Amino acid sequence: MDCDKRIEAVNAAIGLAEGRTGRSPSRVRLVAVSKARTAVEVRAAYEAGQRDFGENYLQEAMAKMTALSNPDIVWHFIGAIQSNKTRDIARRFQWVHTVDRARIASRLDDAAERALDICVQVNIDGEAQKAGVAPSGLPALVTHIQGLPRLRLRGLMAIPRADGDHRTSFRTLRCLFDSLADDAGDHWNTLSMGMSDDFEIAIEEGATMVRIGTAIFGPRPTPARQKVSA
Ligand SMILES: *Cc1c(COP(=O)(O)O)cnc(C)c1O
Repeated sequence: MDCDKRIEAVNAAIGLAEGRTGRSPSRVRLVAVSKARTAVEVRAAYEAGQRDFGENYLQEAMAKMTALSNPDIVWHFIGAIQSNKTRDIARRFQWVHTVDRARIASRLDDAAERALDICVQVNIDGEAQKAGVAPSGLPALVTHIQGLPRLRLRGLMAIPRADGDHRTSFRTLRCLFDSLADDAGDHWNTLSMGMSDDFEIAIEEGATMVRIGTAIFGPRPTPARQKVSA
């Protein structure tokens, strides 16, 4: 199936999931996750109408940004943030979904040249190896980000444990989101949750943004470095 057909199918599934929960259609924003995809593949998705793209690796993303200079593309950073990359991330991306500590938030704010949309990543299932702030640390981090003038705090992001009950994890994130709503400021309206395998469940549990790679672009190619070490 071609990319445009897959995007159409994903958008149709999003619409059905919205309908099941009685929400108005076309409210959930689709971020096409283009990590490990070429600029040619991103362009095909763009030509099919897709405008939001998510990237995990700064260097890879910057090469695609140079190749695709379309001013209406919205780039979302969804990868782990190393502190020596904050300057470029703040200046090249419009959204950052993976802020999980105060120091990184402050560095992004220092480097930003305009308002930067921010989601705080939560380690929703308490996994030792996973990024994200613990739920107990979330209120303090939210307060810290609100004091940073260029960061526009939009909401929360999480990736549930792979073998866990995703619906329960999404529901927990939604509860955290609601519990902070009175204190988190005027822009607090985003729940970034749901990927190719679970986005319909995420929407049923209140996602406003889904991050989808495989269902749009097909299976990801294995990175060369993994082949070498195998
Ligand atoms: C890779 C990735 C996705 C997309 O995963 P798919 O299963 O291919 O849809 C979404 N979010 C993050 C943070 C990712 O790293």
